[in-house]
Amino acid sequence: MVEKQRGITIWLTGLSGAGKTTICQFLETELRSQDYKLEVLDGDVIRQNLSKGLTFSKEDRDENIRRIGFVAHLLTRNNVIVIVAAISPYRAVREEVKAKIGDFIEVYINAPLEVCEQRDIKGLYKKARAGEIKNFTGIDDIYEVPLTPDVECKTNQETIAQSASKILNKLEELRYIQPFTSPQLQNHHSPVG
Ligand code: ADP
Repeated sequence: MVEKQRGITIWLTGLSGAGKTTICQFLETELRSQDYKLEVLDGDVIRQNLSKGLTFSKEDRDENIRRIGFVAHLLTRNNVIVIVAAISPYRAVREEVKAKIGDFIEVYINAPLEVCEQRDIKGLYKKARAGEIKNFTGIDDIYEVPLTPDVECKTNQETIAQSASKILNKLEELRYIQPFTSPQLQNHHSPVG
């Protein structure tokens, strides 16, 4: 049982298909198994409710991130661990929410565009290439790579468990979580990269 938990926002940013949702789900399972209170804010889900009606213009994308940041801040200051999985392509607004929340790590979920496009989990790259979707990040809209992420996961070179371990190790190092071992995390104390 976790005695006194400190809140933090773990912000996963990266291209569509890079692995944000997958890593988020893995982290969620691991942290819940240790009784941490947590909430997940997934970009796709948020766009169906809190940010319903927003477009993919720069202005609306920034608005979307500010809304997610606002909720993440409320939860974080109430000692919840928040995992955000959102493309969040623009550096300036990422920096803005980081400064506001304070207890925050930026995690760059990095896979080359070619790999994301090959995975094409949701079939969106195909549609973007065919011109059926406009302003698609990586195709006809920019993704501004994090310059100094707290953690970088190279998902085309690491297993899901290795990527998640890097994040858990960082949380441990910063004293947001206590060390723990799990059958899923054989590499937990020997991170790659
Ligand atoms: P996103 O949420 O960033 O759009 P998804 O998590 O939906 O991306 O898809 C990522 C895909 O990449 C999944 O099919 C996942 O199994 C695969 N994958 C392979 N290696 C990794 C890794 N190390 N971390 C995360 N995903 C990985």
